[in-house]
Amino acid sequence: MKMAGIYVHIPFCRHKCSYCDFTSFPDKIDYAEAYMACLYKELKMRGEELKDYEFDTVYFGGGTPSYIPPKLILGAMNQIRKCFRLTENAEITLELNPGTIGEGKVKTYLEAGINRFSIGLQTAIDEQLADLGRIHNARDYVFATKLLAGQNFSTDVMLGLKNQTKEDVCKTIELAHACGSKHISMYALTVEDGTPIYTDYLNGELPDSDEVAELYEYGKKLLEEKGYKRYEISNFAVEGYESRHNLNYWKRGEYIGVGVSASSFMMGKRFTNTFDLDEYMKCVISGFYPAVTSEQVEGKDAKFEYVMLALRTAKGFSLDEYKEEFGTSLGEDFPTALKKTAKYLELSDGYLRIKEEYLYVQNSILIHFLEEGAE
Ligand code: SF4
Repeated sequence: MKMAGIYVHIPFCRHKCSYCDFTSFPDKIDYAEAYMACLYKELKMRGEELKDYEFDTVYFGGGTPSYIPPKLILGAMNQIRKCFRLTENAEITLELNPGTIGEGKVKTYLEAGINRFSIGLQTAIDEQLADLGRIHNARDYVFATKLLAGQNFSTDVMLGLKNQTKEDVCKTIELAHACGSKHISMYALTVEDGTPIYTDYLNGELPDSDEVAELYEYGKKLLEEKGYKRYEISNFAVEGYESRHNLNYWKRGEYIGVGVSASSFMMGKRFTNTFDLDEYMKCVISGFYPAVTSEQVEGKDAKFEYVMLALRTAKGFSLDEYKEEFGTSLGEDFPTALKKTAKYLELSDGYLRIKEEYLYVQNSILIHFLEEGAE
């Protein structure tokens, strides 16, 4: 039986954050019930064609999944169980915004079988949260984690914020640790053209890439001291609490995405649903798949994807498994890139990985594989 993951996109938010470039609608919560009815239908359509798969992870992302009425999440899980074969100990994650949570919601999530939560804290400094347009403060995070006491949860920490210092990063990590977070995603703010924060960027008010790299190094050290091991560039976990859903992405594993803007990778094909809410709903109601782009990834593109994703992880990838997957060795496929990047890579127990100290600058290493993959 083949194994895959399920991604469910919930595109509603109470307010648009100043840096947000995700598909999320701050003014359309009234559509939530109708949208979820369409999503249940898409789940049914996908489930019918994926009968020979087992699913080991489910991930509710957004948007803000914790913003919609929790009975809709329960309904989605009931539908997933009805339409897909879930493994007994499937990892089921829900993204949660600390400004949208209460006791009743948590109760319903647990009833739905959610066994992992991903909380968007970003920073413990309230002025920075306000700058980002987040709807919560640090105290709301503490409240949310109290409601989740004893549960497995992850915390998002953002770097590269206006006026952010090492002390701020320290306070954020210490808060997440003290509240019982088993997993921390620490990633740099990406400034997208067209978002309100872009103006701050143009005005030179955000830390530059060297300053962000310094914050990252500082945060990484602190996380390791506190027992979080880095297993991917931006992800740190207490041993045994790594995100299985994300590990599947980096292994170039298969997953089906449902909902507006959701992406999938199944049977060598990458496809993405429409980003337009009305179009999504109309499509599904009429019984059509809402995918608007689709690409079969083959040959060198598939090989580059495999290398690019796997080298994000601290473990790297097995050269034997690579050969098994593609029928050719890495040395045959990327001789020049391997030569050019040799000093940044290490090989042990048959696994190739980027050396610890260079993982943060992996893009400058991968560019050589990309260039050779394009030849
Ligand atoms: S909560 Fe997340 S998805 Fe919603 S507006 Fe903020 S960054 Fe975007």
